[in-house]
Amino acid sequence: MESIKRNILLNPGPSTTTDTVKYAQVVPDICPREKEFAGLMKGLREDLVKIVHGDLQKYTSVLFCGSGTINIDVCINSLLPEGKKVLVINNGAYSTRAVEICQYYGLPHIDLKFPVDELPDLNRIEETFKANPDIGLVHTTHQETGTGILNPIREIGALCHKYGATFTVDTTSTYAMRPIDIEKDNVDFCMASAQKGLMSFTGLSFVVGNREIIEKSKDFPKRSYYCNLFLQYDCFEKTGEMHFTPPVQTIYATLQALKEYWAEGEEGKWARHTRVFNAICEGLDKLGFKQVIKEENRAGLVASAIYPDDPNWSFEKVHDYCYERGFTIYPGKISTTNTFRLCALGAIDKEDIEDFFVTFEKALKETGVQVPVVYKA
Ligand SMILES: *Cc1c(COP(=O)(O)O)cnc(C)c1O
Repeated sequence: MESIKRNILLNPGPSTTTDTVKYAQVVPDICPREKEFAGLMKGLREDLVKIVHGDLQKYTSVLFCGSGTINIDVCINSLLPEGKKVLVINNGAYSTRAVEICQYYGLPHIDLKFPVDELPDLNRIEETFKANPDIGLVHTTHQETGTGILNPIREIGALCHKYGATFTVDTTSTYAMRPIDIEKDNVDFCMASAQKGLMSFTGLSFVVGNREIIEKSKDFPKRSYYCNLFLQYDCFEKTGEMHFTPPVQTIYATLQALKEYWAEGEEGKWARHTRVFNAICEGLDKLGFKQVIKEENRAGLVASAIYPDDPNWSFEKVHDYCYERGFTIYPGKISTTNTFRLCALGAIDKEDIEDFFVTFEKALKETGVQVPVVYKA
Protein backbone atom coordinates (compact mmCIF):
# COMPACT_ATOMS: atom_id res chain seq x y z
CA MET A 1 0.00 0.00 0.00
CA GLU A 2 1.54 3.24 -1.15
CA SER A 3 1.25 6.07 1.34
CA ILE A 4 -0.69 9.14 0.23
CA LYS A 5 0.46 12.72 0.90
CA ARG A 6 -0.73 13.56 4.40
CA ASN A 7 -2.43 16.92 4.79
CA ILE A 8 -3.29 18.25 8.23
CA LEU A 9 -6.83 19.58 8.02
CA LEU A 10 -7.61 22.05 10.80
CA ASN A 11 -10.93 23.02 9.16
CA PRO A 12 -14.17 21.80 10.79
CA GLY A 13 -14.49 18.75 8.52
CA PRO A 14 -13.89 16.89 6.33
CA SER A 15 -11.07 15.67 8.53
CA THR A 16 -7.66 14.12 8.03
CA THR A 17 -8.11 10.38 7.42
CA THR A 18 -5.81 7.38 7.77
CA ASP A 19 -4.45 5.67 4.67
CA THR A 20 -6.27 2.48 5.67
CA VAL A 21 -9.59 4.38 5.51
CA LYS A 22 -8.61 5.97 2.19
CA TYR A 23 -7.78 2.59 0.65
CA ALA A 24 -10.92 0.92 2.03
CA GLN A 25 -12.84 2.70 -0.74
CA VAL A 26 -11.04 0.71 -3.39
CA VAL A 27 -13.15 -2.42 -3.70
CA PRO A 28 -14.47 -4.63 -6.50
CA ASP A 29 -17.52 -3.08 -8.17
CA ILE A 30 -20.71 -4.12 -6.46
CA CYS A 31 -24.39 -3.41 -6.93
CA PRO A 32 -25.63 -2.04 -3.60
CA ARG A 33 -28.90 -3.98 -4.05
CA GLU A 34 -27.04 -7.25 -3.36
CA LYS A 35 -27.65 -8.98 -0.01
CA GLU A 36 -23.91 -8.76 0.70
CA PHE A 37 -24.12 -4.98 0.76
CA ALA A 38 -27.30 -4.86 2.86
CA GLY A 39 -25.46 -7.04 5.40
CA LEU A 40 -22.68 -4.49 5.67
CA MET A 41 -25.17 -1.70 6.30
CA LYS A 42 -26.88 -3.62 9.12
CA GLY A 43 -23.67 -3.77 11.16
CA LEU A 44 -22.89 -0.17 10.31
CA ARG A 45 -26.31 1.02 11.51
CA GLU A 46 -25.91 -0.83 14.81
CA ASP A 47 -22.43 0.57 15.38
CA LEU A 48 -23.72 4.10 14.88
CA VAL A 49 -26.22 3.56 17.71
CA LYS A 50 -23.58 1.94 19.97
CA ILE A 51 -21.28 4.97 19.64
CA VAL A 52 -23.84 7.01 21.60
CA HIS A 53 -24.54 4.09 23.97
CA GLY A 54 -28.07 3.59 22.66
CA ASP A 55 -30.04 0.45 23.48
CA LEU A 56 -30.65 -1.23 20.11
CA GLN A 57 -34.25 -2.03 21.02
CA LYS A 58 -35.07 1.58 21.76
CA TYR A 59 -32.81 3.44 19.31
CA THR A 60 -31.98 3.00 15.66
CA SER A 61 -29.99 4.81 13.00
CA VAL A 62 -31.17 5.87 9.58
CA LEU A 63 -28.66 6.58 6.79
CA PHE A 64 -28.92 9.25 4.13
CA CYS A 65 -26.82 10.10 1.10
CA GLY A 66 -25.84 13.73 1.50
CA SER A 67 -23.78 16.15 3.55
CA GLY A 68 -24.53 16.75 7.24
CA THR A 69 -27.16 19.40 6.63
CA ILE A 70 -29.48 16.74 5.21
CA ASN A 71 -29.91 15.39 8.77
CA ILE A 72 -31.16 18.73 10.11
CA ASP A 73 -33.57 18.96 7.18
CA VAL A 74 -34.81 15.39 7.72
CA CYS A 75 -35.38 15.76 11.47
CA ILE A 76 -37.17 19.08 11.29
CA ASN A 77 -39.43 18.32 8.34
CA SER A 78 -40.30 14.79 9.52
CA LEU A 79 -40.74 15.08 13.28
CA LEU A 80 -43.17 17.97 13.69
CA PRO A 81 -46.73 16.78 14.40
CA GLU A 82 -49.74 18.59 12.90
CA GLY A 83 -50.69 21.74 14.79
CA LYS A 84 -47.37 21.98 16.67
CA LYS A 85 -44.48 24.42 16.60
CA VAL A 86 -40.69 24.09 16.39
CA LEU A 87 -38.49 25.80 18.98
CA VAL A 88 -34.92 26.42 17.85
CA ILE A 89 -32.48 27.30 20.62
CA ASN A 90 -30.12 29.40 18.61
CA ASN A 91 -26.69 30.69 19.59
CA GLY A 92 -24.86 30.25 16.32
CA ALA A 93 -24.65 29.60 12.61
CA TYR A 94 -25.70 25.93 12.67
CA SER A 95 -28.86 26.52 14.69
CA THR A 96 -29.60 29.41 12.33
CA ARG A 97 -29.50 26.83 9.55
CA ALA A 98 -32.29 24.94 11.35
CA VAL A 99 -34.31 28.18 11.50
CA GLU A 100 -33.85 28.60 7.75
CA ILE A 101 -35.07 25.04 7.21
CA CYS A 102 -38.26 25.93 9.17
CA GLN A 103 -38.66 28.97 6.94
CA TYR A 104 -38.20 26.98 3.72
CA TYR A 105 -40.83 24.43 4.78
CA GLY A 106 -43.12 27.18 6.08
CA LEU A 107 -43.22 25.59 9.54
CA PRO A 108 -44.46 27.55 12.56
CA HIS A 109 -41.38 28.13 14.69
CA ILE A 110 -39.77 30.21 17.41
CA ASP A 111 -36.21 31.37 16.88
CA LEU A 112 -35.02 31.75 20.47
CA LYS A 113 -31.79 33.67 20.02
CA PHE A 114 -28.84 33.99 22.38
CA PRO A 115 -25.48 35.72 21.81
CA VAL A 116 -23.03 33.50 19.91
CA ASP A 117 -20.48 33.62 22.71
CA GLU A 118 -22.92 32.78 25.52
CA LEU A 119 -24.75 29.70 26.72
CA PRO A 120 -28.52 29.64 26.25
CA ASP A 121 -30.43 30.76 29.35
CA LEU A 122 -32.43 27.82 30.71
CA ASN A 123 -34.92 30.12 32.46
CA ARG A 124 -35.78 31.82 29.19
CA ILE A 125 -36.21 28.41 27.57
CA GLU A 126 -38.60 27.32 30.31
CA GLU A 127 -40.56 30.60 30.04
CA THR A 128 -40.90 29.93 26.30
CA PHE A 129 -42.34 26.46 26.97
CA LYS A 130 -44.84 27.92 29.45
CA ALA A 131 -45.96 30.60 27.01
CA ASN A 132 -46.22 28.15 24.08
CA PRO A 133 -47.85 24.87 25.06
CA ASP A 134 -47.92 23.92 21.35
CA ILE A 135 -44.14 23.39 21.06
CA GLY A 136 -43.77 19.87 19.68
CA LEU A 137 -40.16 19.79 18.53
CA VAL A 138 -37.03 21.44 19.94
CA HIS A 139 -33.75 21.66 18.07
CA THR A 140 -30.31 22.89 19.05
CA THR A 141 -26.64 22.31 18.27
CA HIS A 142 -24.33 20.45 20.66
CA GLN A 143 -21.10 22.19 19.74
CA GLU A 144 -21.75 25.28 17.64
CA THR A 145 -19.02 24.66 15.10
CA GLY A 146 -18.99 28.35 14.17
CA THR A 147 -17.51 29.28 17.54
CA GLY A 148 -16.71 26.08 19.47
CA ILE A 149 -19.18 26.72 22.31
CA LEU A 150 -20.65 23.66 24.06
CA ASN A 151 -24.39 23.83 24.71
CA PRO A 152 -25.96 22.19 27.82
CA ILE A 153 -28.00 19.55 25.98
CA ARG A 154 -28.74 17.40 29.02
CA GLU A 155 -30.41 20.31 30.84
CA ILE A 156 -32.26 21.50 27.71
CA GLY A 157 -33.38 17.92 27.02
CA ALA A 158 -34.78 17.58 30.54
CA LEU A 159 -36.93 20.69 29.93
CA CYS A 160 -38.11 19.34 26.56
CA HIS A 161 -39.27 16.12 28.18
CA LYS A 162 -40.90 17.96 31.09
CA TYR A 163 -43.01 19.86 28.52
CA GLY A 164 -43.61 16.88 26.25
CA ALA A 165 -41.51 17.94 23.24
CA THR A 166 -39.19 15.84 21.07
CA PHE A 167 -35.55 16.96 21.29
CA THR A 168 -33.28 16.83 18.22
CA VAL A 169 -29.64 17.81 18.60
CA ASP A 170 -27.16 18.56 15.86
CA THR A 171 -24.15 16.63 17.13
CA THR A 172 -22.34 16.70 13.78
CA SER A 173 -19.21 18.25 15.28
CA THR A 174 -19.10 16.20 18.51
CA TYR A 175 -20.36 12.70 17.55
CA ALA A 176 -17.63 10.03 17.87
CA MET A 177 -15.32 12.58 19.48
CA ARG A 178 -16.80 14.02 22.68
CA PRO A 179 -18.62 11.16 24.44
CA ILE A 180 -22.43 11.29 24.19
CA ASP A 181 -24.96 9.07 25.97
CA ILE A 182 -28.19 9.49 24.03
CA GLU A 183 -30.43 8.39 26.89
CA LYS A 184 -28.67 10.07 29.83
CA ASP A 185 -28.21 13.24 27.79
CA ASN A 186 -32.00 13.40 27.27
CA VAL A 187 -31.60 13.42 23.48
CA ASP A 188 -34.27 11.87 21.24
CA PHE A 189 -32.36 12.33 17.98
CA CYS A 190 -28.73 13.12 17.28
CA MET A 191 -26.94 13.19 13.96
CA ALA A 192 -23.60 13.37 12.17
CA SER A 193 -21.88 12.64 8.90
CA ALA A 194 -19.06 10.25 8.17
CA GLN A 195 -16.40 12.85 7.35
CA LYS A 196 -16.27 14.44 10.80
CA GLY A 197 -15.75 12.50 14.04
CA LEU A 198 -15.66 9.12 12.33
CA MET A 199 -12.76 10.27 10.12
CA SER A 200 -14.23 8.82 6.94
CA PHE A 201 -15.47 10.57 3.77
CA THR A 202 -18.24 12.85 2.61
CA GLY A 203 -21.54 11.58 1.25
CA LEU A 204 -22.89 9.53 4.15
CA SER A 205 -24.97 11.17 6.88
CA PHE A 206 -27.08 9.59 9.58
CA VAL A 207 -29.68 10.27 12.23
CA VAL A 208 -29.61 8.21 15.44
CA GLY A 209 -32.81 8.27 17.44
CA ASN A 210 -35.84 6.94 19.18
CA ARG A 211 -37.60 4.18 17.23
CA GLU A 212 -41.00 4.78 18.82
CA ILE A 213 -41.03 8.45 17.80
CA ILE A 214 -40.01 7.52 14.24
CA GLU A 215 -42.88 5.05 14.06
CA LYS A 216 -45.30 7.66 15.38
CA SER A 217 -44.07 10.14 12.75
CA LYS A 218 -45.59 7.90 10.08
CA ASP A 219 -48.80 9.87 10.60
CA PHE A 220 -47.23 13.33 10.79
CA PRO A 221 -47.61 15.71 7.83
CA LYS A 222 -45.35 14.70 4.93
CA ARG A 223 -43.30 17.67 3.80
CA SER A 224 -40.53 16.05 1.77
CA TYR A 225 -40.15 12.86 -0.22
CA TYR A 226 -36.40 12.35 -0.46
CA CYS A 227 -35.81 13.64 3.08
CA ASN A 228 -38.56 11.87 5.01
CA LEU A 229 -37.29 10.03 8.08
CA PHE A 230 -40.04 7.43 8.35
CA LEU A 231 -39.89 6.51 4.67
CA GLN A 232 -36.15 5.84 4.83
CA TYR A 233 -36.44 4.01 8.18
CA ASP A 234 -39.27 1.84 6.92
CA CYS A 235 -37.28 0.88 3.84
CA PHE A 236 -34.31 -0.14 6.02
CA GLU A 237 -36.53 -2.16 8.34
CA LYS A 238 -38.25 -3.99 5.48
CA THR A 239 -35.37 -4.53 3.06
CA GLY A 240 -32.15 -3.60 4.89
CA GLU A 241 -31.45 -1.15 2.11
CA MET A 242 -31.51 2.56 1.53
CA HIS A 243 -34.54 3.69 -0.46
CA PHE A 244 -32.31 5.14 -3.19
CA THR A 245 -28.68 4.62 -4.20
CA PRO A 246 -26.31 4.75 -1.21
CA PRO A 247 -22.81 6.29 -1.28
CA VAL A 248 -21.20 2.87 -1.81
CA GLN A 249 -17.50 3.75 -1.51
CA THR A 250 -18.03 6.00 1.51
CA ILE A 251 -19.84 3.14 3.24
CA TYR A 252 -16.83 0.84 2.74
CA ALA A 253 -14.52 3.54 4.08
CA THR A 254 -16.80 4.14 7.06
CA LEU A 255 -16.79 0.45 7.96
CA GLN A 256 -13.00 0.63 8.15
CA ALA A 257 -13.22 3.92 10.10
CA LEU A 258 -15.52 2.22 12.61
CA LYS A 259 -13.00 -0.61 13.10
CA GLU A 260 -10.40 2.04 13.86
CA TYR A 261 -12.86 3.85 16.16
CA TRP A 262 -13.43 0.73 18.29
CA ALA A 263 -9.71 -0.06 18.31
CA GLU A 264 -8.85 3.41 19.63
CA GLY A 265 -11.85 3.41 21.98
CA GLU A 266 -14.17 6.20 23.05
CA GLU A 267 -11.95 7.25 25.94
CA GLY A 268 -8.67 7.04 24.03
CA LYS A 269 -10.07 8.97 21.10
CA TRP A 270 -11.50 11.72 23.27
CA ALA A 271 -8.15 11.93 25.12
CA ARG A 272 -6.36 12.36 21.78
CA HIS A 273 -8.73 15.10 20.58
CA THR A 274 -8.25 16.80 23.94
CA ARG A 275 -4.44 16.65 23.55
CA VAL A 276 -4.78 18.18 20.10
CA PHE A 277 -7.15 20.91 21.31
CA ASN A 278 -4.92 21.77 24.26
CA ALA A 279 -1.94 22.04 21.91
CA ILE A 280 -3.99 24.39 19.69
CA CYS A 281 -4.93 26.60 22.66
CA GLU A 282 -1.34 26.65 23.93
CA GLY A 283 -0.02 27.57 20.51
CA LEU A 284 -2.54 30.40 20.14
CA ASP A 285 -1.80 31.66 23.67
CA LYS A 286 1.93 31.69 23.02
CA LEU A 287 1.43 33.84 19.93
CA GLY A 288 -0.88 36.17 21.87
CA PHE A 289 -4.13 35.27 20.06
CA LYS A 290 -7.41 35.79 21.90
CA GLN A 291 -10.30 33.34 21.56
CA VAL A 292 -14.00 34.15 21.32
CA ILE A 293 -15.26 31.48 23.72
CA LYS A 294 -14.37 31.49 27.41
CA GLU A 295 -12.37 28.47 28.49
CA GLU A 296 -15.14 26.95 30.63
CA ASN A 297 -17.66 27.06 27.75
CA ARG A 298 -15.48 25.42 25.08
CA ALA A 299 -16.46 22.03 23.70
CA GLY A 300 -12.77 21.23 23.28
CA LEU A 301 -12.84 20.68 19.52
CA VAL A 302 -12.99 24.04 17.71
CA ALA A 303 -10.91 27.09 18.65
CA SER A 304 -12.13 30.46 17.35
CA ALA A 305 -9.31 33.01 17.35
CA ILE A 306 -9.88 36.74 16.91
CA TYR A 307 -8.00 38.57 14.14
CA PRO A 308 -5.21 40.72 15.62
CA ASP A 309 -5.30 44.50 15.16
CA ASP A 310 -2.28 44.53 12.88
CA PRO A 311 -2.38 46.31 9.52
CA ASN A 312 -0.31 43.49 7.99
CA TRP A 313 -2.63 40.68 9.13
CA SER A 314 -4.16 38.90 6.15
CA PHE A 315 -6.01 35.65 6.75
CA GLU A 316 -5.71 34.79 3.05
CA LYS A 317 -1.92 35.23 2.99
CA VAL A 318 -1.42 33.22 6.17
CA HIS A 319 -3.83 30.56 4.91
CA ASP A 320 -2.02 30.26 1.57
CA TYR A 321 1.41 30.01 3.21
CA CYS A 322 0.19 27.20 5.48
CA TYR A 323 -1.83 25.48 2.74
CA GLU A 324 1.23 25.21 0.48
CA ARG A 325 2.95 23.42 3.37
CA GLY A 326 0.15 20.92 4.03
CA PHE A 327 -1.84 22.68 6.76
CA THR A 328 -5.39 23.91 6.18
CA ILE A 329 -6.81 26.65 8.44
CA TYR A 330 -10.36 27.94 8.16
CA PRO A 331 -12.23 31.26 8.36
CA GLY A 332 -14.70 31.92 11.18
CA LYS A 333 -18.47 31.98 11.00
CA ILE A 334 -19.47 34.91 13.21
CA SER A 335 -20.98 37.92 11.49
CA THR A 336 -19.92 40.45 14.13
CA THR A 337 -16.29 39.48 14.81
CA ASN A 338 -13.47 38.60 12.44
CA THR A 339 -12.22 35.18 13.42
CA PHE A 340 -10.48 32.10 12.09
CA ARG A 341 -10.83 28.53 13.31
CA LEU A 342 -8.46 25.71 14.21
CA CYS A 343 -10.19 22.38 14.80
CA ALA A 344 -9.14 19.25 16.66
CA LEU A 345 -10.97 16.58 14.66
CA GLY A 346 -9.37 14.01 12.39
CA ALA A 347 -6.55 11.49 12.50
CA ILE A 348 -3.99 13.90 13.93
CA ASP A 349 -2.12 14.23 17.22
CA LYS A 350 -0.34 16.82 19.32
CA GLU A 351 2.89 16.60 17.29
CA ASP A 352 1.01 17.66 14.14
CA ILE A 353 -0.17 20.78 15.95
CA GLU A 354 3.37 21.55 17.13
CA ASP A 355 4.55 21.25 13.50
CA PHE A 356 1.67 23.44 12.42
CA PHE A 357 2.59 26.23 14.82
CA VAL A 358 6.17 26.29 13.51
CA THR A 359 4.77 26.94 10.03
CA PHE A 360 2.06 29.31 11.28
CA GLU A 361 4.56 31.47 13.17
CA LYS A 362 6.76 31.65 10.07
CA ALA A 363 3.70 32.69 8.05
CA LEU A 364 3.00 35.53 10.50
CA LYS A 365 6.60 36.73 10.46
CA GLU A 366 6.99 36.49 6.68
CA THR A 367 3.82 38.49 6.11
CA GLY A 368 5.04 41.18 8.52
CA VAL A 369 2.64 40.49 11.39
CA GLN A 370 4.01 41.47 14.82
CA VAL A 371 4.55 38.43 17.11
CA PRO A 372 3.17 38.10 19.75
CA VAL A 373 0.16 39.60 18.03
CA VAL A 374 -1.36 42.86 19.26
CA TYR A 375 -4.90 44.01 20.00
CA LYS A 376 -6.12 47.55 20.55
CA ALA A 377 -7.15 47.98 24.20
C1 LIG B 1 -20.34 20.21 9.56
C2 LIG B 1 -21.59 20.48 10.25
C3 LIG B 1 -22.83 20.28 9.62
C4 LIG B 1 -22.95 19.80 8.19
O1 LIG B 1 -22.51 20.69 7.25
P1 LIG B 1 -22.42 20.21 5.73
O2 LIG B 1 -21.76 21.38 5.04
O3 LIG B 1 -23.79 19.95 5.25
O4 LIG B 1 -21.57 18.98 5.73
C5 LIG B 1 -23.98 20.45 10.34
N1 LIG B 1 -23.94 20.84 11.63
C6 LIG B 1 -22.78 21.06 12.28
C7 LIG B 1 -22.83 21.46 13.71
C8 LIG B 1 -21.57 20.88 11.61
O5 LIG B 1 -20.42 21.08 12.26
